[in-house]
Amino acid sequence: MTKFRENYRGHVEADLNGVLLLLRDRTPRRILVTGGAGFLGSHLCEKLLDLGHEVLCADSFTTGRHSNLEGLRGNPRFSIIRHDVSVPLDVEVDEIYNLACPASPPHYQADPIQTMKTSVLGALNLLELAKARGIKIFQASTSEIYGDPQIHPQPESYWGNVNPFGPRSCYDEGKRCAETMFHDFHDRHGIEIKVARIFNTYGPRMRPDDGRVVSNFIVQALRGDDITIYGDGSQTRSFCFVDDLIDGFLRLMASPPSFTGPVNLGNPGEFSVRELAEQVIDLTGSRSRIVHRPLPVDDPRQRRPDISLAARELDWRPRVPLSEGLKRTIVYFDGLLGRSQELAETA
Ligand code: NAD
Ligand code: UDP
Repeated sequence: MTKFRENYRGHVEADLNGVLLLLRDRTPRRILVTGGAGFLGSHLCEKLLDLGHEVLCADSFTTGRHSNLEGLRGNPRFSIIRHDVSVPLDVEVDEIYNLACPASPPHYQADPIQTMKTSVLGALNLLELAKARGIKIFQASTSEIYGDPQIHPQPESYWGNVNPFGPRSCYDEGKRCAETMFHDFHDRHGIEIKVARIFNTYGPRMRPDDGRVVSNFIVQALRGDDITIYGDGSQTRSFCFVDDLIDGFLRLMASPPSFTGPVNLGNPGEFSVRELAEQVIDLTGSRSRIVHRPLPVDDPRQRRPDISLAARELDWRPRVPLSEGLKRTIVYFDGLLGRSQELAETA
């Protein structure tokens, strides 16, 4: 009987918490999204505006684009500032999502020192802002925290296998340092933190020259160019469609203060890079050939998230299968490349 009562009370409390969280989430807030002009950031800004919030996007426009925010222009609840997060920022906001950082290897490796400054000083400056205002802050961390993992799939408890001074280190170690700082600000200053470890995510609004595998393969297939597989293509990744990921962000942000993360957000469906190339060729009906290029240094052999923590704590799991997400992304790039072709012809 006592056990039943405890369980019953537990359920009531959980339900009440859920209702309170929903109510809290519906209260319009002024939200800062750093990196809001990028691929993920632009989808997040859009979703937050749809939910009735006011959004301030701060971006340095290194990899971000104004065109990603085209649809939000003219919305009185949306504003943009050009700002580099490695410099302190003081704005009046109620909540922060920190997404500022180039995510594609060629882009983050182009200026490794700036990448490290963005991750580390950016995290520090935004945590100081969160501390000064007593507000909640989200960090876009990454599966790169696990490096070239020796445990598969990767649970959050795995500490990773990261090279501290290779070509990927500016990104991997920068993000690891940011996670450390988030947890220290939480422990020492009581800041409410939410840390998401994001696994390879793709979708509309990636740049055609982004350099990541999904956008590269789709653009190559649509143009009829060679599809460049690095190495033999047996390395694996797990690809999450952007809408699923953004849903995970919102659920994490609405979770109780005691749930800080880190939590893996990604699609556990695992594919080799060769399988991905074949699917893209199939879905586009392309006549592109597959060619092989050297495997980049420290390229992780395998990657798949263990998402049991997200499923349990956030009731989150991805819904969009790879074939469906690829179709939607192909439609986007088809439109984009068609438009650039038209512009070239009329120029
Ligand atoms: P993206 O390159 O499209 O977006 C990054 C945005 O940050 C861009 O708008 C860029 O201009 C901006 N930015 C870069 N440096 C900045 C600085 N110093 N100050 C202000 N803005 C700056 O990449 P994305 O895929 O949208 O990634 C967004 C975030 O999610 C990044 O922090 C990335 O590390 C993280 N993440 C993404 C993935 C993924 O698969 N997409 C995976 C893991 C982690
Ligand atoms: N890759 C590839 N061809 C490309 C781009 C990437 O074979 O044109 C490979 C890359 O070597 C890696 C995988 O695809 O094994 C995923 O690369 P991406 O840059 O998208 O993400 P990350 O390596 O950071 O997971």
